[in-house]
Amino acid sequence: MSPAPFAVRADEAPRASARAGRGEALSALRADPRRAIQEDVIRCLECGRALRQLTNTHLRSHGITARDYKRRFGYNRGRPLMCLTLQRLYVERAVKSGLAAQIRCRPILAQPELRRRGGARPISLEEYLTRRDARLRAVSLLRPPAGTPRRKRVATSGPPLVGSQR
Ligand SMILES: [Zn+2]
Repeated sequence: MSPAPFAVRADEAPRASARAGRGEALSALRADPRRAIQEDVIRCLECGRALRQLTNTHLRSHGITARDYKRRFGYNRGRPLMCLTLQRLYVERAVKSGLAAQIRCRPILAQPELRRRGGARPISLEEYLTRRDARLRAVSLLRPPAGTPRRKRVATSGPPLVGSQR
C-alpha cells in the first residue's frame, strides 16, 4: 500500500546516486578533471552521471561535442573520455593489432602551423595540474623529513608559498 519512497525511473538512477554523495562533488571534480576519470567509471562533468565512457550521444544530450567538452573542462585534447579499465582494454587491442606501426603521421611535420609556433601551444588545465603535481613531488623529495625545523631565521608574513612558486 505504501509507495516506495525512493523509487526513481531507471534513467534517473545514476543521477540520483551521484547526488547521494557517492563519489566526489562535481565542483571538486571540475577543479581537477583528472579525478573524474576513475577505474570503472568516468563522471560527466556536465551532469555528474557515472558512465563507462562519455559517448558522442551522451555529449550531444548536453549540446556539445567531445572536443568542446575537453576544452570546457580543461582536458588534454587527446584525452580518451572513458574509464581506466576501458582505456586499458583499447590499448591492449591496439597493441595486438599493431596499430602503432600503422601510425606514421607526425603533427609537427604535417602541420607547418605547429612548426611556426615553435612547439608552443595553449596548455590545458589537465596538463597544468599534472605538471604542477610533478613539480610539487620533486620539491617534496628535496625537502627534509616532516618535523625537521626549517626556515626558522626567516620571519615571513603569511603562510609559505608552496604551490604558487615556479
Ligand atoms: Zn552528462
